[in-house]
Formats: sequence, structure tokens, C-alpha cells
Amino acid sequence: MNKNVIIIGGGIIGLSSGYYLYQNGYNVTILEKGDFANACSKGNQGWVCPALHTPVPEPGLVGSSIKWLMKKDSPLYIKPSAVPRLSGWVSQFLKHCNEKDFKAGKDALHSLSNSTFKLYDSLKADGLNFEMHREGMLFVFLNNNELKQGINKFIQGSKLYGHEPPTILSGDEVRKLEPNISNKVVGGLLLKEQRHVNPESVSKAFVEILKSRGVCLRSNTEVTEIERQDNKIMAIMSDEERFEADTFLLTAGAWSGYLAKKFDYNLPIQAGKGYSITINNPTLKFKHPIYLGDTKAGISPYKGSARIGGTMELSGINLSMDKNRIQGVRNSVSKYLNEELRGDSEIEWTGMRPMTPDGLPVLGLIPNFKNAFVATGHGMVGVSMAPTTGKIMADLINSGTTDFDIEPFDPNRFTK
Ligand SMILES: Cc1cc2nc3c(=O)[nH]c(=O)nc-3n(C[C@H](O)[C@H](O)[C@H](O)COP(=O)(O)OP(=O)(O)OC[C@H]3O[C@@H](n4cnc5c(N)ncnc54)[C@H](O)[C@@H]3O)c2cc1C
Repeated sequence: MNKNVIIIGGGIIGLSSGYYLYQNGYNVTILEKGDFANACSKGNQGWVCPALHTPVPEPGLVGSSIKWLMKKDSPLYIKPSAVPRLSGWVSQFLKHCNEKDFKAGKDALHSLSNSTFKLYDSLKADGLNFEMHREGMLFVFLNNNELKQGINKFIQGSKLYGHEPPTILSGDEVRKLEPNISNKVVGGLLLKEQRHVNPESVSKAFVEILKSRGVCLRSNTEVTEIERQDNKIMAIMSDEERFEADTFLLTAGAWSGYLAKKFDYNLPIQAGKGYSITINNPTLKFKHPIYLGDTKAGISPYKGSARIGGTMELSGINLSMDKNRIQGVRNSVSKYLNEELRGDSEIEWTGMRPMTPDGLPVLGLIPNFKNAFVATGHGMVGVSMAPTTGKIMADLINSGTTDFDIEPFDPNRFTK
């Protein structure tokens, strides 16, 4: 008889895990407190860009960002009223802003991301119908120093991790590729093999294929309690129902920390709040996803729309739309364009990136349990890493092991 797995959280990580578990012959149920993929997995930039996979805590971040930290329209902002609640997490985060941890984190992320394109292609081959673009990823800069640093970073990255070397572009060459980029841009670089997807289309494709294969998807079902016997989870509960299974997988994104407490597991996840604005039928057209190097914001073109987004705000889990932050995103993008990006209509959005203090995902068995797993903490790169993560979790649940090196993502590392 097939074994039963229950997944808690129906974002892109839960959906992808459900997909690979189903492929391994499991009876899968996914419980989602709201609508599927309606939290951070919606509204993001959709970059599938393994060359960019680095831990968020990086050397020099503290120095260069200190001027931003309390400024309401800056790329990184800590809400003063949230500081007491966040201080433990922030001090752990700051400890990881050093060369050694950053290099180790990059190595770990890149060892997983080598499979990203192959797995995205295999999803297409299996009939998932989603919007994926292969025009590469364009990085543009207003400042020569930042440009130089960007070029060096990706030359080094290509040597160390095997992604394509950057094609270096003058300002005019950038404008040849993207005529709406302003004369203020001094140059850029193109990573030709990187991709981007429309993230909503990926989640929708997962939902459709899972439903068509008989996977049980339950929306509006919030998991509130667990029932345990020693080191085994027997069932989980919503307010109205009790669900039994052989194995449980926690993929609740930024909310995973709350639920982890029910497992007596102290998982340090904070929400890294970001904003985006989706502009329908935009007045300016773009061919490439564009990383705006100096302001850390981005533009993603999709069929019929363009999305601008960015910023990182540490203010706890809350979906309030801070107009200053949204205006900050608009201003960051305007600096790079010849004219204002407008359209028929706009959707402003905010999402909670699940952030660990070392900038690495958490993948594996929940400490002290033998049938409860966790997959979260993907920060800025959850869409890109979703297929690899899903495959890893299915491997682990199925056989207790995986070919990927997952030691750096050990859920136990916070308890040591
Ligand atoms: C502005 C912005 C831009 C981004 N751009 C990119 C990008 O270009 N490329 C990239 O790879 N990543 C990007 N990201 C990051 C990416 O969006 C996230 O890493 C990813 O969506 C996380 O997915 P998740 O499934 O872990 O979390 P979520 O999508 O948040 O899903 C978690 C789900 O769990 C549910 N849940 C929570 N608690 C419970 C409960 N008790 N019971 C049941 N369900 C529960 C929630 O409702 C939610 O649906 C971006 C993020 C932001 C904010």
C-alpha cells in the first residue's frame, strides 16, 4: 500500500515537494491555510538565476547598509518597533556576515543549483504548462565601481561554479539590448543562460497537475496543533479536523517558525518583507529580466505585464503595505529608465521571504522526530530552488538519503 504524506503549507516549496513525492508513489495531501501559492510564491520576480544564489548575510553588508537600516525608503530597512523582537535573529545574522561563512554558503547553494535548469526542463517535459523565458539575465549599473564589482563577482563565480562567464556591456550596448534604459547607465553584463519564470504560472501548473493526478489539495485549512507520541507525529489538526499520515513535511515559509514551536523545535525564521508592483500592458517593453545593480531592485517582463520589485524589510510577519517602501521601489527603478513605466492597471503586492540567519535553507528531519521533515528558509531564491528542494525532500522521505550534499542545510544546526 502507498504511504501517506501530509505537507503543511502550499507555497512553491510545498507544491514542488508534493509533485516529487507523488512521483515516488506517495499518497500526498497538502494543507494550506489560505489559497495555494498566494503568499510569497506569488508576486515575486520569478528569477531562476542560480548564478545569483548567495546567502543574504554577506561580508561588508553591515558597513554598507548601516546607513540604510532605519531609512524608510532604503533597500534594507529594520522597523525600529520590531528591533527588540528581532534582536536575537539579527545578532545571529550579523555573525554570518563574514568571508568564511559567505563562501561556505555560496558553495553549498551552488552545489544544489547545478540541477536547477535540468529540473525546470523536466517539469516542462512532464506537461507542466508555465511561462519560462530563456533570454538570460541583464545586470545594469549607474556607477562604475559597482559595475566593476559585478563583473568581478560573476567572472569569479563562473570559474568556481561553472555558470556562463558574463558578457560585459558598455552603456550603449546595454541600450541596444534594452532601448528603454537611460543614458545614466554606465554599463552592464549579461548572463546568457539564466532564466526567469512567471511565478504564478509555475504554481498554477503545479496545482493543475497535482489535482489531475489525484493529489489532495486542501485550501483554507490551517494547521494549528500536532499530536505526538514520543518522537513520532501521529496526526496534525486544524480547528475542525484531524489528519493522520505516516510522514509530515513542514513547508510553511515565513510561518514555519511558529509551527516549529509545536514540535519543540526552535527554528530561527524571520520574514524578509519585499514589495512588487505588477504593471499590466506596460508602456515600456523589456526583453530581459533586469537587475538594477546599485539599488538592488529588479524588472521582470512577462507576457502582457512587467513587474518591478525589491527591498528587504525586517518588521515581523505583517502584510501592511507601506507606501514609502512602495515608492522606494518605484524610485529605484525610475533612475534607470528614460521615462516612467506605466500601464493600464497596477497591482501592488507584498510578500514574506522565509529568512534564516545564515541565509541557507533548512532541509531534513525535524530534530528529535523520525517522521516529520522541514523544507523552508529559501529567502530570496525559493522559486529558483523549488524543483531541487522538492526532489531532495522526496528522496529523503522515500529513502532517507539523497545524492545532493545537504549537510549545510541540516535542521539541527541551530540547536548545536
Ligand atoms: C519581492 C520579492 C521578490 C522575489 N524574487 C524572487 C526571484 O526572483 N526568484 C526566486 O527564486 N525567489 C524570489 N523571491 C523569494 C521567493 O518568493 C520565496 O523564497 C518563496 O516564494 C518561498 O516559498 P515558500 O513555499 O517557502 O513560502 P510561501 O510561498 O510563503 O508559502 C508558505 C505557505 O504556507 C502557508 N502556511 C503558513 N502557515 C500555515 C499553517 N499553519 N497551516 C497551513 N498552511 C500554512 C502559507 O499560507 C503559505 O501559502 C522573492 C521574494 C520577494 C518578496
